Amino acid sequence: MFFWFLATAILTIAWVFKDPRFDYRLLAVGAVLPDLIDWPTGWRLMHSVMTSIVLLSVVMLVSVGRKPYRKLLLGVPIGTFLHLVFDGAFANTTMFWWPIGGWEFSADVLPVVARGWWNAPMELAGAVALWMWWRQRRLQNP
Ligand SMILES: [Zn+2]
Repeated sequence: MFFWFLATAILTIAWVFKDPRFDYRLLAVGAVLPDLIDWPTGWRLMHSVMTSIVLLSVVMLVSVGRKPYRKLLLGVPIGTFLHLVFDGAFANTTMFWWPIGGWEFSADVLPVVARGWWNAPMELAGAVALWMWWRQRRLQNP
C-alpha cells in the first residue's frame, strides 16, 4: 500500500488546511512510515496512537521558536496519524493503544496484510485520486 496512504493524507491536508504553500514531502513520508517500519521489523510500534503523540510532542519541543521548521516537521506526525485513520488501525485496540495494555507488541498481522486483496482497489483509488489532484493543481507545470 503506497498510493492509498499518499492520496488520503495529501487530500485530507489539502482539504483541511487549504494552504497552497504546505510542504507535502514529509507528510508523504509520515503517511507510509508506519508500514515501512512495522512490516519488516514485526513490531507494531508505529501503529500505536501513542507513537504519533510522542512524535508530535518531539516535533513541538525541538521546533520551539522556529515556526518554519515546525511547519515543515509537523508533516511527519500528521502523516502517521492519518495513516492510522486510513489504515483502520484503531480497529485493533491492542495494537492501537500500545503500550497502555502492556509493553508486548500485538501478535496480530498489520491491517494492510489483514485486508488482503481489498488493497488492490484501494491502491487504484489512491492512484486515481493523486493523478486527479496532480492535474487539478497543474503540478506538471514547472
Ligand atoms: Zn499500516
